[in-house]
Amino acid sequence: METKLTISALILEYFQQHPKRPLQHGEVVDWVEEQYLQAYGKKPRDTWRGIRQLHQQGKLIKVDKGLYMYDPDHIANPILEEFTPDQKQAILERDGYRCVVCGLGEADGVDLQIDHIRPKDKGGLATLENGQTLCTKHNLLKKNYGQTETGKRLFINFYRIAVDEDDEEMIQFFTEVLQVYDKHSVDTHIEWKPVTR
Ligand SMILES: [Zn+2]
Repeated sequence: METKLTISALILEYFQQHPKRPLQHGEVVDWVEEQYLQAYGKKPRDTWRGIRQLHQQGKLIKVDKGLYMYDPDHIANPILEEFTPDQKQAILERDGYRCVVCGLGEADGVDLQIDHIRPKDKGGLATLENGQTLCTKHNLLKKNYGQTETGKRLFINFYRIAVDEDDEEMIQFFTEVLQVYDKHSVDTHIEWKPVTR
């Protein structure tokens, strides 16, 4: 539909005026609605959906929840997102041919994969710094349950509050929760140590 195209053109125009800068979704919606109102005398509907569609079409990078960015270099070079065989080899060598989470390697019977630390759909590129070696299990865990990181950070925060409050029962509770993360090697890159009191 023509109207839809216009909204999406307005969204893209605003992003193109601020290249390589993460923009809050609300700021974009306000500007687009203002332009649209001036042109047609009515407010457009679902502008935010237009932003999401542009992201799905690969024209905008999602930086965070509600935060999008237009990067002409990124759009022009989608190939930069994929690791080359040489890069994969270099990352494997750097990581000692082991999963950086559990430390297992092919000798232990696990398959190794090269993962984008910052995911591709969030603007992560294929650079050595953004690559890491993961076993299939930890790669899937990261892809499917990326939010476990948020969970662990939340529990660490709760734990700190309990320590501050000197709340023995909750200190014990959060300690045990965090020990479960350690036991299953989930999100081991987020460090947590019991406070000595
Ligand atoms: Zn692993």
